[in-house]
Amino acid sequence: MTVPGTVTVVGSANLDIVVPVPHHPTTGETVLGGDHAMHPGGKGANQAVAAARAGASVSFVGRIGADDAGGRLRASLEAAGVDTTHLAVDAGAPSGIACIGVDADGDNAIVVSPGANGRVGAADVAAAGPLLTSAAVTLLQLETPVDVVVDAATRAAGVVVVNPAPVAPLPDDLLTAVDVLVPNRIELAQLAGTGVPVDLDEVAGMARGLGLPAVVVTLGADGALVCGPTADVHVPAPAVTAVDTTACGDAFCGALADALARGVPLVDAAARAVHAGALTATRAGAQPSLPSAAEIDASMAR
Ligand code: ADP
Repeated sequence: MTVPGTVTVVGSANLDIVVPVPHHPTTGETVLGGDHAMHPGGKGANQAVAAARAGASVSFVGRIGADDAGGRLRASLEAAGVDTTHLAVDAGAPSGIACIGVDADGDNAIVVSPGANGRVGAADVAAAGPLLTSAAVTLLQLETPVDVVVDAATRAAGVVVVNPAPVAPLPDDLLTAVDVLVPNRIELAQLAGTGVPVDLDEVAGMARGLGLPAVVVTLGADGALVCGPTADVHVPAPAVTAVDTTACGDAFCGALADALARGVPLVDAAARAVHAGALTATRAGAQPSLPSAAEIDASMAR
């Protein structure tokens, strides 16, 4: 029996170290940048925080190092009310970090060191077994080893939502276990092995070609396309002034998981998720920009 309103996330937590640079360095070059900022991030942690802000009761399963970064990552999850009982401290690897250079045009160059995220394993998933069998939704990404994602998806008793990011081939065992896949347009094209779709018909065709029960494709300022068992429904995004689209996809996935966990039908859940993503686009940063349930409600009422 799954418990309504509960979400279990198995995934990554990274400390993002952001440095403004006049231009990105080439091999052998040293570039003097501006003052750095450090933010908790990682797709798994961001989506866990997004689901918690949206109202769900969330548990996070993952690994951090025995270091300061790990302490910050745990604290940010706990500040959002996420249960971290199954966030293990791994003495054998540092916490995951992402070094993000942002140039004068706002373009990023990113180096990710997965560290402890790469050591999430079968034992972690087994230990979290009761969370996976009780959660109404299990929410997964591809920043932890794919075997772990397959294992968690297979054990999950509730709805399995997979955000295939960063994109990678999906093993058959995962395709069998997933209920809702949430790619963006580029990830969809990569999974379909084709060019980026130019219109909604092409998006729908590619999504259907994956042969899954449901695919929700995020489309940036164009909202999302829900390709369900019976029909395709376009959910437009509200017009907003976007200042920083970091974590929009994570906001979307977290809000979608929250709504599905409360039994909201897929198209209505996607509508909430579209508003959560749009609100996130209006604010700087990743986790601080994720909206509350009340903010999502207010956006939907406008
Ligand atoms: P990702 O961040 O994974 O690339 P998208 O860019 O598709 O994903 O954005 C995810 C969601 O965030 C969209 O479905 C939409 O709801 C919202 N969003 C992103 N950018 C904008 C924007 N410029 N205006 C309104 N909503 C946006």
